[in-house]
Amino acid sequence: MNECIFCKIALRQIPTDLVYEDPEIIAFRDLNPQAPIHILIIPKVHIATLNDLIPEQAPLVGKMILAAQQIAVQEGIAIPGYRTVFNCNAGAGQTVFHIHLHLLGGRNMNWPPG
Ligand code: 5GP
Ligand code: ZN
Repeated sequence: MNECIFCKIALRQIPTDLVYEDPEIIAFRDLNPQAPIHILIIPKVHIATLNDLIPEQAPLVGKMILAAQQIAVQEGIAIPGYRTVFNCNAGAGQTVFHIHLHLLGGRNMNWPPG
């Protein structure tokens, strides 16, 4: 996926504020943060939306959530609390069509989100 910005970030073709990397996943700070801590956790493989996931990718998504857990500890938000969000398709606010898990924290997160 040559034109995908998150594929380019995963391939390190675009510099980014990296906070985590393993063989399958990379995580970096959001360019336009919605909270004091706003990190995006993405698979290195291109998957456009949550709707495109296949059962074989369940372990990959589990690893993304475990990466969020680990990063939350690193960032000091595990105990106060944090929010994780996948937006799926435009109606939910998805703007980059390479799945990403938002990790948000460092302030009180309201619920319902609106
Ligand atoms: P979505 O709206 O698709 O759920 O989230 C996409 C997120 O990616 C947005 O929060 C946006 O600020 C962030 N974003 C878009 N382009 C870039 C980029 O080039 N670098 C970084 N670090 N974040 C980006
Ligand atoms: Zn991609």
